[in-house]
Amino acid sequence: MSRFLSTKYHKLVPYTPGEQPKERKYIKLNTNESPFPPSRKAIDGAARAAESLELYSDPECKLLTKMIADTCGVSPEQVLCTNGSDEILNFAFMAFCDGAREAVFPDITYGFYSVFADLNGVPYRAIPLGEDFSINVEDYIGVNKTIFIANPNAPTGIALGVDEIERIVSSNPDSVVVIDEAYVDFGGESCIPLINKYDNLLVTQTFSKSRSMAGARLGFGVGSKQLIADLNMIKYSTNPYNVNSMTMAAGIGVLEDEEYTKSNCATVIENREYTVSKLRELGFEMTDSKANFIFAKHTDIDGESLYISLRQKGILVRHFNKARISQYNRITVGSREQMDALISAITEILEENKK
Ligand code: PMP
Repeated sequence: MSRFLSTKYHKLVPYTPGEQPKERKYIKLNTNESPFPPSRKAIDGAARAAESLELYSDPECKLLTKMIADTCGVSPEQVLCTNGSDEILNFAFMAFCDGAREAVFPDITYGFYSVFADLNGVPYRAIPLGEDFSINVEDYIGVNKTIFIANPNAPTGIALGVDEIERIVSSNPDSVVVIDEAYVDFGGESCIPLINKYDNLLVTQTFSKSRSMAGARLGFGVGSKQLIADLNMIKYSTNPYNVNSMTMAAGIGVLEDEEYTKSNCATVIENREYTVSKLRELGFEMTDSKANFIFAKHTDIDGESLYISLRQKGILVRHFNKARISQYNRITVGSREQMDALISAITEILEENKK
């Protein structure tokens, strides 16, 4: 820390992103990326856009916003595109939380929520998940605070139904409820159709997972015109050109190729179910994941030891050194070949562990 750092950041502990090691080729199952390349249309679109990089990108993101709005069945004024969904989540903390309007979210969820809260000086309360890591909807009824829920949740993969989300949203009419649907395309149910019924609901999604564009950084939010106007005010006060023109073109390309996304999601779901059944045979306990990852623990091997042993065998998974979940690993669902390599490696590790 330099002696110049503002005192307001002295205690800030930044988010730790998943490892992106370059020193060796790993089977990367640690950051929930897609095992599939981006759509050809996305790559070609980005390459064409690169020809005009001397110009600023469209601050209104007009065409992409219109396409997202059409896909979601809302109007363009109800959509805001951002630099990954992390950016819109941060905007939501900036816009809808303060000392008098605390944030609430589950104790086990996306680790960035508490960082955004601390970054913006927002007090927050973490509501414990149940023993089985489920969200108890009753805990969020009428809390009258700004609520952040990842649905499906991370790193558990457990999803709430739209009816349960609706109970939370309708019981907090004077507070914003943010539903982070980063993983919704792998078996969850989107609550975007509720947007026109509730002016306090903001839904965020990303192109990073199901649309194979993690490296391009594209996310978006859908909400009432007023909520989106508030978030635009924050955007134009921080970074008006938040989505670069190559990413914008790639996003348009992906949306022109929805069949490709759908078929990749179907493959990931198939591979998830395959891996779950194999891991169950090996004695793992898992949550009921509706995401592109599996959250698993084994009684014979400690979570961190399994993570380290897999790393030595060239497979990266995500281990969280955190109370309640330190026995678990979060394993991204990859291609069938990657899943077979994972299962072989785990079988070997369990054997070696017995000796
Ligand atoms: N929400 C959740 C629950 C996530 O796991 C992630 C990915 N780390 C994000 C949001 C943000 O993803 P991105 O910024 O790539 O859209």
